[in-house]
Amino acid sequence: MKNKFLAISAHPDDLDFTCAGTISKMAQENNEVFYLIISDGSKGSHKVKFSSKKLAKIRQTEQKRAANVLGVNNVFFLGLKDGEIENTQFLRKKIVQIIRKVKPEIILSFDPANHSFDNPHRFHRDHRQTAEAVFDSIYPAAGSASFFPELLKQGYQPHQIKEIWFFATEKPNKFIDITQTIDKKIEALSQHSSQIADLKAIENKVRAWSKIAGKKKGYRYAEFFRMLKFKNGS
Ligand SMILES: [Zn+2]
Repeated sequence: MKNKFLAISAHPDDLDFTCAGTISKMAQENNEVFYLIISDGSKGSHKVKFSSKKLAKIRQTEQKRAANVLGVNNVFFLGLKDGEIENTQFLRKKIVQIIRKVKPEIILSFDPANHSFDNPHRFHRDHRQTAEAVFDSIYPAAGSASFFPELLKQGYQPHQIKEIWFFATEKPNKFIDITQTIDKKIEALSQHSSQIADLKAIENKVRAWSKIAGKKKGYRYAEFFRMLKFKNGS
C-alpha cells in the first residue's frame, strides 16, 4: 500500500540534511511526498549581502529546486520569521490545516524528546519549538473535530496520522537504507547555495554520517528515525 508522507521542518534545507534520502526513496517507490517549511529562512546565511526579504525569496526557490530533485509533490511554506518560531495556537492551527489538507499517513519531524543540547544547530530554538508544535498539532488537534472548528467550515476534515518518524533523534529505532538515493540527497543539498560555503565538505560530512548510521543495519548509507505509532483514538 502506498502512503502519503508529510515532512515538516523549521528552515529551508533542514529536511534535505535530515531525511532527503528517505524522501527520495519514498517518492521513487510511488508514495506521495510533501514538504512543509515553517519559517522563511531569512536569517540563515553565511553571506550578509542579501536583505532578509531577498534571502527569504532565494531560500524558497532553493527549497523548491531541492524538492524537485527528490520528487516531492508539493512544498508548503508558512513564511514565519526565521528565528522567531513559537509553539502557539496560531502555528498549531496552520500545521493542522496542512495535515488535514494533505492527509498523510506518516509525518516526519524533529524529535521533541531530544534534550542533550550537545549541538547548537540541532538545538536551535526554531527546531525545538517546531518539534513541539508539530507533536501538539498531530494529537489530538488534527484528528479531532473539537479543535479549530473554523477549519471544518472551510472543508478541512479531521485527520489522524498513523506514524511519526522523528529525524535528528537521539533514540533511533528505524533505519532506512538510502544507498540508492544518497546521490539525490547530495544533489538536493547542493541547491541550497546561499547556505553552502563548501559543497564538497558538506558531501563528505553527509556521507560520513550516513555511513555510521548504516553500519548498525549493514547498509552502506542510512538515515535514522524514532518511529512512534498512533493507534486509533489514542
Ligand atoms: Zn534549521
